[in-house]
Parts: sequence; structure tokens; C-alpha cells
Amino acid sequence: MSIIVLKLPEVKPSTETRPKGCPHCHGETFQRWGKVSKPVKDNRIDTVGVYRYRCNHCRRTFRYYPEGVDRADQTQRMRKLAAICWVLG
Ligand SMILES: [Zn+2]
Repeated sequence: MSIIVLKLPEVKPSTETRPKGCPHCHGETFQRWGKVSKPVKDNRIDTVGVYRYRCNHCRRTFRYYPEGVDRADQTQRMRKLAAICWVLG
């Protein structure tokens, strides 16, 4: 009997850092442009706080997702877990 240690990605309920660069133009100065609550499918948390920022350089807005979360409804942890369950049958 072997023990398998599964390393799942961390999921944070909100961001602790500011974005490093604009995804559109890689500018480095932003204004905080509101906050949205995003419902997610995860085994531990159901909503995450996502900040929107506006780039001072290109004036476009973007969402800055916390670790483990992206545009999809499921967190990266749940997607990985689903893949593992599928492999194990
Ligand atoms: Zn920009």
C-alpha cells in the first residue's frame, strides 16, 4: 500500500498583492477600479473577491484574480481534483 500525496493548487479567497503588470500593455501603474464577488465552485470557498484595476497607461481595465482562480467557474484546485478522480476511475 503506497501513499500518494496529492499537491493541489492553493486557492485564496482574495488577492493579497497588487498586479505586477497590465495584461494589455505591461504598464506598471494602476488605479483600483472596483471590486466584484465572483462565485466559484470549490470544496472550501464559494466566493472570491476580485479587484478590477484600470491601467494608467492604456486606460483599459482588467480583473486581477486571486491565486488559484481564473475566468472559469471552477477553481484550479477543483479542476485538478476532477482530473485526478477521473484518472482513478
Ligand atoms: Zn495597460
